[in-house]
Amino acid sequence: MKNEKIPYKIYLSEDEIPRAWYNVRADMKNKPAPLLDPVTRRPITEDALAEVFCRELARQELDDTNAYIEIPEPIHSFYKMYRPAPLVRAYCLEEKLGTPAHIYYKFEGNNTSGSHKLNSAIAQAYYAKEQGLAGVTTETGAGQWGTALSMACSYFGLDCKVFMVKVSHDQKPHRREVMRTYGASVTPSPSDTTAVGRKILAEHPGTGGSLGCAISEAVETAVNSGGRYRYVLGSVLSQVLLHQSIIGLEAKTALDKYGVKPDLIIGCAGGGSNLGGLISPFMGEKLRGEADYRFIAVEPASCPTLTRGVYAYDYCDTGMICPLAKMYTLGASFMPAPMHAGGLRYHGMTPVLSQLCADGLMEATSVTQTSVFDAAVTFARVEGILPAPESAHAIRVAIDEALRCKETGEEKVILFGLTGTGYFDMMSYAKHNDGILTD
Ligand SMILES: *Cc1c(COP(=O)(O)O)cnc(C)c1O
Repeated sequence: MKNEKIPYKIYLSEDEIPRAWYNVRADMKNKPAPLLDPVTRRPITEDALAEVFCRELARQELDDTNAYIEIPEPIHSFYKMYRPAPLVRAYCLEEKLGTPAHIYYKFEGNNTSGSHKLNSAIAQAYYAKEQGLAGVTTETGAGQWGTALSMACSYFGLDCKVFMVKVSHDQKPHRREVMRTYGASVTPSPSDTTAVGRKILAEHPGTGGSLGCAISEAVETAVNSGGRYRYVLGSVLSQVLLHQSIIGLEAKTALDKYGVKPDLIIGCAGGGSNLGGLISPFMGEKLRGEADYRFIAVEPASCPTLTRGVYAYDYCDTGMICPLAKMYTLGASFMPAPMHAGGLRYHGMTPVLSQLCADGLMEATSVTQTSVFDAAVTFARVEGILPAPESAHAIRVAIDEALRCKETGEEKVILFGLTGTGYFDMMSYAKHNDGILTD
């Protein structure tokens, strides 16, 4: 039923920003399988994890029992700089499609880094600072995570060393310069500054690199820092999903104000953090038997982890020095074809979503690049926001589902995650506009 009182944007007030993250693992009957130590192949201990990750983050990584974890005050204050994020009713898109469906999206692009990644970057930088570290190391693919982390590190006065996948480093000079402006150092990966980088360069001369390879370099740099640096990761890990639950918690609070219950919740899935965060509180209700929802993960056809991968233990990185995770994976040595949604190129999927998919609690689908850009342009022209190509994967499926409602006459409520803006992806949009984008 059309409720005319629902505004175009549902804004929460600052004191409605959640005070605690929600840990969906606490409500899962089948917990994600434990991470394995790459040397012993036994479940990894907090102490072993804490050699690579910050202590508190290692603890969060292994915590599958506490449902709520309080957000420390300094993180909450930082969140106030760019949150609450609006929940938008896509009236203009609905009208354009002529659909009876009600479409909502949670927009996470309202910060300089341009994506949801800042939600976890600020948490990870905070815990590194609390631990008294000099800085953190990380990898970045398309550059969104590195940008978010460099903002978070500059806020807390931490050093930030970013290994950037070489193709992106060369193709995305603007992202690189945003990171450097916030004080980060940016090294194209593979590089000759690490043993694993030199090995990969020797085996694959001229390679454009991959996320898995950049992860190995960042981990090696942290582990060899004499304890002054730790490695941080922007997706895949359970701790990142935990931090990203702020997306779903805010979205649910906003919908609850108007008594709206989504039938379908859709998100793009690279490593699974935005989708995991968006669905967490809704999935919690489903797991506790309080409500039912359909959840759809959307992946690129060129990196179809959930739809075509196998559910097995695999390394999180190409260099095989990180813990092993049980997840849907295309193989740690998988090198995806170049595509224009760099944030969705990862070979694995977070163990939390992998387990939920394996248990039939959520679905996955894949879409082609040209259909994604068609959806992005349709959306931009009516809703005004220029979406990131990653986000446009979710838009594609939201549009398809809304068009299905048009055929059946169903007034379904669709919620999707609009994870970021596409200003740094204009070369991809150029190819689309010139009609030379391929699948
Ligand atoms: C990184 C990124 C993604 C994919 O990462 P997830 O961990 O799967 O959320 C999606 N959208 C944008 C804008 C990104 O920057």
